Amino acid sequence: MIDIKETIHHSGREKNIDLNTSVMGTVFTDHMFICDFENGAWRNPRIEPLGNIATHPAAMALHYGQAIFEGLKATLGKDDTPLLFRPEQNAKRLNFSADRMGMPAFPEGLFVEGLKRLVAIDKEWIPSAEGTALYLRPFMYADEAFIGMRAATKYKFIIFASPSGPFFSKPIKLWAETQYIRAANGGTGEAKAAGNYAAAIRPTEMAKAKGYDQVLWLDARDFEYVQECGTMNIFFKIDGKFVTPNLGGSVLNGITRLSVMDVLRDQGFEVTERPVSINEIVAAFNNGTLEEAFGAGTAVSIAPVEEIGYKDLKITFPANAPVGAAVKKTLDGIKTQQIEDKFGWIVSVDSTVKA
Ligand SMILES: *Cc1c(COP(=O)(O)O)cnc(C)c1O
Repeated sequence: MIDIKETIHHSGREKNIDLNTSVMGTVFTDHMFICDFENGAWRNPRIEPLGNIATHPAAMALHYGQAIFEGLKATLGKDDTPLLFRPEQNAKRLNFSADRMGMPAFPEGLFVEGLKRLVAIDKEWIPSAEGTALYLRPFMYADEAFIGMRAATKYKFIIFASPSGPFFSKPIKLWAETQYIRAANGGTGEAKAAGNYAAAIRPTEMAKAKGYDQVLWLDARDFEYVQECGTMNIFFKIDGKFVTPNLGGSVLNGITRLSVMDVLRDQGFEVTERPVSINEIVAAFNNGTLEEAFGAGTAVSIAPVEEIGYKDLKITFPANAPVGAAVKKTLDGIKTQQIEDKFGWIVSVDSTVKA
């Protein structure tokens, strides 16, 4: 057993909040998991009451952007046992991001153990209504005070949690962006690096001003190949078969994406990962073989796409994405143990130890 020091203080605030309707990212639970990287090793893993952390103005993450994050959800299964969905995949992806950004790897076992302890301690904060969950945000940043360009020698790894009411997977409208890019080959697009999101803010605001919900990112060289949208990967159904852009270094390796591919194949669909040209989507729309599209990511699970704006064209989809809705039902059912987890994705949290 990994030794994690625990300083517990339950505020009881969760009893006065309607967890089932709280907006993800606005309410935070009582505790956080923290670990420090110093002198070449991760030290002092601990659970503490959630609070502010003093930051030196020269903390390197603030200037040079060594900051990466993860996101996953804890749900309640049978007998109200807290469950995590494929947390070891998040541990692996954090270390992929860390490697790209010149940051130290975090021990994967300690990552999962930190999640489990935090969820066990703040179990009362997990909402129970359908479609709700406790969102977990592991992240790492450079907190060494130093001016100069090199990898930092000090980092913090933290996990905090935020109850998340049901996400309505309302149909989304995407704007295929032909001026700005999210990720280029050789860049940081496959890392969950903070700076990627900063660069997306302005183009997303511009898409919203045109009446769209999110940007559909195209490749950086030709503005032709579809990458992904917002913080979701994308799937298209063309002539009965599914296709999703291959990773290729500039698409985020979504865990929902991986899971959706498995569920689709299990339901008998063909799924291909390959470059998807926006021209192919336009052609399929014109010849009537474009059947549905949906975004896939932890926050909303599956979001049906109702329209893609591309230059002067409006590519429209039937009002709901029926296969997407069926996949969502399967994923949500597995996450709450209403459907058997035949893929072995669920990790249950023993919340009876050290309650
Ligand atoms: C996190 C993220 C996704 C989805 O990943 P999941 O593991 O499914 O949540 C997709 N695209 C981007 C850009 C992301 O940041």
